[in-house]
Amino acid sequence: MQYDNKKYAEHLSGMVQFPTVSTVNADDLPLEAFFGLHKYLEEAYPLVHKTLTKEVMGKAGLVYHWKGTGKSGKLPVLVCAHQDVVPEGDHSKWKYPPFSGHIDEEGMLWGRGCGDCKCTMMAELEAVEALIADGFVPDFDIYMAFGYNEEIMGGPGAACQIISDEFKARGLRFGLVLDEGGGIMNMNGSKVAMIFASEKGYADHEFWVEDGGGHAAMPPEHNALGKLGHAMYILEENPMEPKLTPPVIQMFKSQAAITPSPMKELFADPEGNWEQLKAICAGNKMLNTYIRTTTTPTMAQGSAQANILPEKASIVTNSRLLPGETLEDLEAHFKAVLPEYVHFRLLKGHNPPAVSSTDTPAYRLLERLAKEMHGEDVHVMPALVFGGTDSRYYCDLSDSVYRYVGGANSGKGGGAHAVNECLDTTTLASFVEFFVRVFQDYATAE
Ligand SMILES: [Zn+2]
Repeated sequence: MQYDNKKYAEHLSGMVQFPTVSTVNADDLPLEAFFGLHKYLEEAYPLVHKTLTKEVMGKAGLVYHWKGTGKSGKLPVLVCAHQDVVPEGDHSKWKYPPFSGHIDEEGMLWGRGCGDCKCTMMAELEAVEALIADGFVPDFDIYMAFGYNEEIMGGPGAACQIISDEFKARGLRFGLVLDEGGGIMNMNGSKVAMIFASEKGYADHEFWVEDGGGHAAMPPEHNALGKLGHAMYILEENPMEPKLTPPVIQMFKSQAAITPSPMKELFADPEGNWEQLKAICAGNKMLNTYIRTTTTPTMAQGSAQANILPEKASIVTNSRLLPGETLEDLEAHFKAVLPEYVHFRLLKGHNPPAVSSTDTPAYRLLERLAKEMHGEDVHVMPALVFGGTDSRYYCDLSDSVYRYVGGANSGKGGGAHAVNECLDTTTLASFVEFFVRVFQDYATAE
């Protein structure tokens, strides 16, 4: 198989030039940009569009199906990515216009969505295109699904809910689901393949306090906003109890192999060292997220004018739930620690999706490919992702859902969700090769 970085970079640049920004209000979705992207994909991937069936689901979701011979007897494979991107922010702060897809002399590609995650969509499409050109026919079915509102956490009308419901109605189950997530990266000087087998749940809540209002020149000792601020401080001071959960125990144990002392010893036996580990994690923003359900206030509203006391003050919080805990647990916690005058309601949220096993033929395939492609010294590590991905909609359709794209990260680039998002195009081939090898080897994976 010939891999062509230059072609991949050009195609990715073409994809970035469509401003497929997802919107909280579904009616505002820039359909023209999405349909423009669809048209572009038809031109860039002619064999995919000749050989696979394509369906548009929901407003702009893309589902491709490559019917295999069925000889392997294996369940179908589903590879995912999202077409949508977050808003580009302040144009004047971008080195190159955010939807230019400009590629500089060093091979860096600039533009919103190049890394998150049009490069994944590109790699999956290139892999299928290359395999068809090579005469490959899969002995199992291959599906590709590209949603359009991942960046707003789906919400009502989530593209991948629509797609997943349709898959369910057709009686589909998958032997492997791959979505955006980990790749090969450098951690403490070691090459690590981070395979995200689990993800946290998500919740936005509105909290509010109602009060008399009135003239700000004659305030009460504590008004609605003051009381609510106090309540939020109480919430911060009383987070949910830290907990060791199976996916995190597994992650810590694996991480021990690439961690220097003294954390190495603690990670190697998290249950035995729980008291010590708990104290260390609580004091570290990053580690803390692995051992508890977090809640933090992010938006606030008082009265409409500086000299008016708020009749109602409200604050929105964002929570991330540990696998094993539920929205009910979280709300019971709010009730237990907050004063009675605070009301709350769920704006949107979902429980953590099922944790995927790492004792499956599909996981072992990813493990083997990481070592074959990137060296025997690669340390393969199952991990918990604390952001959300579209893959959660498929967790009840497969025991093997991994947020993993298998390519080598050069460490250059970044800026996802910030200005100047950029990506090193010189390593794109390794992402394409990863998907090619997955499709080639899946039928015989054990
Ligand atoms: Zn993403």
